[in-house]
Amino acid sequence: MTDNIEKIYEDSEAFRDSLATVDKKGKRIWIYPKKPKGWYYSLRTYVSWVLLAVLFAMPFIKINGEPFMLFNVLEGKFNIFGVIFTPQDLHLFALAMVTLMVIIVLFTVVFGRLFCGWVCPQTIFMEMVFRKIEYFIEGDANQQRKLDKMPWTKDKIFKKTAKHAIFFAIAVIISNLFLAYVIGVEEVGKIIQEPVSMHLGGFISMLVFSGLFYGVFAFMREQVCTTICPYGRLQGVLLVPNSIVVHYDFVRGEPRGKIRKANPLSSIQSAVATGDLALAGSAATETPLKIQGDCIDCRLCVHVCPTGIDIRNGTQLECVNCTACMDACDEVMEKVNRPKGLIRYASYNSIKHGKHKLFDTRVKAYTAVLIALVSLQIFLFATRAQVDVFVVRVPGQLYQKVDDNTLRNIYSWQVVNKTGQNFEGITFKLKDEPSGRIELVGAQGNIVSTSQNMVKGVLMIDLPKDDMPATKKKIVIEVYSNDKLLDKVTTNFLGPIK
Ligand code: SF4
Ligand code: SF4
Repeated sequence: MTDNIEKIYEDSEAFRDSLATVDKKGKRIWIYPKKPKGWYYSLRTYVSWVLLAVLFAMPFIKINGEPFMLFNVLEGKFNIFGVIFTPQDLHLFALAMVTLMVIIVLFTVVFGRLFCGWVCPQTIFMEMVFRKIEYFIEGDANQQRKLDKMPWTKDKIFKKTAKHAIFFAIAVIISNLFLAYVIGVEEVGKIIQEPVSMHLGGFISMLVFSGLFYGVFAFMREQVCTTICPYGRLQGVLLVPNSIVVHYDFVRGEPRGKIRKANPLSSIQSAVATGDLALAGSAATETPLKIQGDCIDCRLCVHVCPTGIDIRNGTQLECVNCTACMDACDEVMEKVNRPKGLIRYASYNSIKHGKHKLFDTRVKAYTAVLIALVSLQIFLFATRAQVDVFVVRVPGQLYQKVDDNTLRNIYSWQVVNKTGQNFEGITFKLKDEPSGRIELVGAQGNIVSTSQNMVKGVLMIDLPKDDMPATKKKIVIEVYSNDKLLDKVTTNFLGPIK
C-alpha cells in the first residue's frame, strides 16, 4: 500500500511543467494568499520584529565614532561589525565570499530554504510588513479578489490609494535605510535636510531605489523568490533527500479524500424504523466511513501559500519555507481529530523510510571544507595589519650616482590607514643603515595619514657605494607616526654590477 502511494506520488510530476503564477498564455496569475495564522506564523512575526529592529538600528550604531556596519562601495570603505576594511583587504573579502558560499551550500543541504522563510529581508518585508498592511486595508484573500473585480467605486479608490501611498512611503524608508548602509546615516540625513541641488546624485538614487522597492513589494512579490533570486534557483542542485524542508507527509496523507458521512449505524436503524428496507439496504452497502489518508483535500495549504503552489506535490523550487501551509494544515488536523504535522519540517527520506541521516558524506565533506576556510579566515584576520605600508622602486629606474661615493634609488610609497584614527607626522627611517639617508620628494610639512584613507608619495634613498656588497641589497624601512612605529617594509636597493 505505502509503495503504491509513493509511486502515484512520485509519478505525478506534471506540475513541474508550469509555474503556479503563470497561465498557459504566459500571463501572470496574481496570487491572493489567505491570511495565515498559527503557531509558526506567530513565531515568525516575533522573529521578524527582532530582525527588523536590528536592521533599522545597525546604521545608527557607532564604535569609536565609526559605523558598526557600512558597505561604501563607492569609496571602497567597509565597516563590518565595527572592523574597518579597505580595498587592500580584498583577499579577505574574496575568502569571506567563498566561505559564505560554502555556508549557504551546507546550510541548504541540511536545512533547505529555512533562511528564505525566517530571515530573508524580501520575505520579512513582503509577508510581515506589506502583506499585513494589505490584509488590514483590503481584507483577506476573498475580499481582495472581490475588490479587484469590482468597478472603481469611491471605496475601491480610497482603499487602493491608501494602500499604495503607504506602500510607497515604506519603500522610501527602506530605500533610505539601504542608502544608510552604503553612504552612512549622516550623508542620508544631509540628502533629506539640505537642498536637492546640493545632493542631486544622492536624491536621484533615493528615488530610484524607492521606486525599485515599491515595484518589488507592490507588484513583483513572489516573482522575486521564484524567478529572480539566484539562491532560489540553486535549490534544484542543492537539495538532497536528507534536506529538512517544509514537507507534506505523503505516506500519512495519501490517498487524500473528503470526509464523507457514510453508513452511520443510525441511518440504517432509522431506515429500518421507518420500514424503508430499500433505503436500509442501500445505506448498509455504502462505503463505510473511512478516510484512507489523513489529508482531507481541503486545499487550505494551497490557499495560504504566497507562491501559489501545492506542497502536496512535493518539494518545489517555488517553496520559500514560509510555514503558512504547516499552520493551515495543523488547524485542519486539529479539527478532524488527527495528529498535527501532516505538513511539517521533515526530509524526504524521513517520510519515505522513516529515518533521517543528518551527517551524510556530503555534509561531512562540506563541513570539513568550511572548517578549513573559517580557520584560514580567522588566521588572516588575526594577523591583518591595521596600517599597510608599501614602498616599491619606481619602475624603469635602476640607480643614480649622486657623487663618486653615493648611490640613489627612487621609490613610490603608500600608507593605507585602516583604523578609525588619524596618524600625524609620518616619517620614514632606514633600519641598520647609519650612513644611509631618506628624502621625501615634494613633501612639505606634516604628512597625515587620515582614517580609512591612503596617503602616497615618492621618496629617494641614498646609500654609500661602499655599503653595497653586491648589485642588489635588501633594506628595511620603518614608518613612524611621530615616534610610534606603524609598520616596516623590506625592499631592494640597486647598485652597479660588481
Ligand atoms: S491543509 Fe492538510 S488536509 Fe488540507 S489539503 Fe492541505 S494537506 Fe490536506
Ligand atoms: S508551500 Fe508552504 S512553506 Fe512553501 S511557500 Fe507555500 S505555504 Fe510557504
